[in-house]
Amino acid sequence: MSLVLDFQRKRGILFVVSGPSGVGKDTVLDRSLQNMEGIIKSVSATTRPPRDTERSGIDYFFYTQERFETEIADAAFLEYENYGSHFYGTPLAPVEQSLAEGTDVVLKIEVKGALNVKQLLPATRLIFIQPPAFSVLEERLIGRGKDTPEKIQQRLEIAKGELDARREYHYLITNDNLETAVNTLCAIIIAERHRIQPESS
Ligand code: 5GP
Repeated sequence: MSLVLDFQRKRGILFVVSGPSGVGKDTVLDRSLQNMEGIIKSVSATTRPPRDTERSGIDYFFYTQERFETEIADAAFLEYENYGSHFYGTPLAPVEQSLAEGTDVVLKIEVKGALNVKQLLPATRLIFIQPPAFSVLEERLIGRGKDTPEKIQQRLEIAKGELDARREYHYLITNDNLETAVNTLCAIIIAERHRIQPESS
């Protein structure tokens, strides 16, 4: 009798990372992925204009409103949302292709999109990055010097709503120390790779 030992999942795992503006989620995510094989970050499409350092196809695909609407009509997005008066969406085909090839994929998206993905694909693992205290967000947003006081207030209001949605996530990371936060995110990804899955998933 031959015993089949290799019953672990072949399909990639879909991860979602969210967190309020100013929490440092880009840094935590980018540093974590630098240390890991077999995982990529999805590149979203947006109608927001590029910031100075942003490159098309790397940070985002920058679409016109018309192009974005065409892609919606063609069902080309896994999910999309309107955030701060611009559209953001996850292109479906590259995510599906990577998962089918066994590569894990991370979506760095806001909470409404995250909860849509959770409903659509229940095997998705959701990770929320929070600040050690709400006041830290305010200090970081002011310190970045990128936004007007009104814009900062607006981002803080959105942040309150986002923090309320934490309970819908599977994992919570507090970013009070960058190295610890990076190690924790890597540990979550590694643990998920070792989870025994029911045959159907
Ligand atoms: P920013 O304009 O600062 O790059 O992004 C604003 C917010 O949109 C962030 O919370 C970011 O994670 C989120 N976001 C980026 N891409 C997507 C996406 O494809 N879908 C959704 N739902 N949110 C996204």
